[in-house]
Amino acid sequence: MYPNNTRTVGVHEYMYWYLVTAPVMVSHRGIALADNNLLRRDQGSQHSPVTSRISNLSSRGGGGMELPGLVFIGDRELLSPCEPCDVAKISSPPNENLQEQLRMLKACQKAYGGIGIAACQVGWRTRIFCMGIDVDDEAARARYPDAKPFPHQFWVNPSITPHMEQGTSWFWEGCLSVPGMRGWVERPNAVHMQGWNENGEPIEAELDGLPARVAQHEYDHLDGVLFPDRALAGTLLPVRAFEDDRQDKWPENWPTPGARKTKPGGFSEVK
Ligand SMILES: [Zn+2]
Repeated sequence: MYPNNTRTVGVHEYMYWYLVTAPVMVSHRGIALADNNLLRRDQGSQHSPVTSRISNLSSRGGGGMELPGLVFIGDRELLSPCEPCDVAKISSPPNENLQEQLRMLKACQKAYGGIGIAACQVGWRTRIFCMGIDVDDEAARARYPDAKPFPHQFWVNPSITPHMEQGTSWFWEGCLSVPGMRGWVERPNAVHMQGWNENGEPIEAELDGLPARVAQHEYDHLDGVLFPDRALAGTLLPVRAFEDDRQDKWPENWPTPGARKTKPGGFSEVK
């Protein structure tokens, strides 16, 4: 049952798989990409605000907005808890700077093809994430072909409570900060969420299915947890393992029943 049989993927397993797609070097906390193009453009101080990183903007645009680059696995900033957001600043004028950063975060999610993104993934170390899939979001649906659209939403300082009585399921998770990889992760099917929205208004929701899955993944980012730490041992795979008909050739019932038939974006019930 979750989470007891969810084992941590070892560094050596991760290395094995990542050697398929990119050179790696092992840091004392994990894996860092050796490709300089994929390394963080900004190696600034740990808690510098995102606005101080504008000089390191990515060239990829988001509706004309200049966007910060992604923070990748191996960067220690992804491994420590984020600071709470001062919610009063969201709703009290003038709040243009914060609203601009929220728009930036949503634009980053779309530009990088995410179905969710946490602020710390673009160097903004606050407890905020956004998620959602538009009907016409081809980039996100290319990464998760079986994912169904759901409304875009911001969560500020969220709290999350799993509904364990509603069971768990498996999903081939990926992450913008762990490029080119998928891992088989078991999580509760449904959660209760509480927090604030982009207007500083208190909100709560009962989530299930894909929104519940993404919310749990993004919430983990706020606590410095990445999905490889949740993945079943031996299941961290390069995306090419899912391409063409390779997935159909996996062993029956590996790594759990249903996994071979579950495309990224779909779910497999626990059997
Ligand atoms: Zn992620």
